[in-house]
Amino acid sequence: MREWTRATHARTCGHCGRQLLRGDPILLIRVGHVRRLLPRCEACAGSEAPPDLPEVIEKSRTTKPMSKLSVSIPGIVERLKGVHGEQE
Ligand SMILES: [Zn+2]
Repeated sequence: MREWTRATHARTCGHCGRQLLRGDPILLIRVGHVRRLLPRCEACAGSEAPPDLPEVIEKSRTTKPMSKLSVSIPGIVERLKGVHGEQE
């Protein structure tokens, strides 16, 4: 599987070793049934990233993962909310 995306953090091209910065277009190659993604820079991918590639979405808060947890582990979330509430 080959999928264009943008780097969400600094990475290194798995082919040429070029430093890829956050927001740079990268081609992710999933190798067979091995759950490993190989990042490739545009030069190594052999094609240009699609122009409509969405920008990296900023994750400013961790409220979404916590709301997911509230469904499965309510006790822990209540504690986390308590800690979070004290900080504000
Ligand atoms: Zn490369």
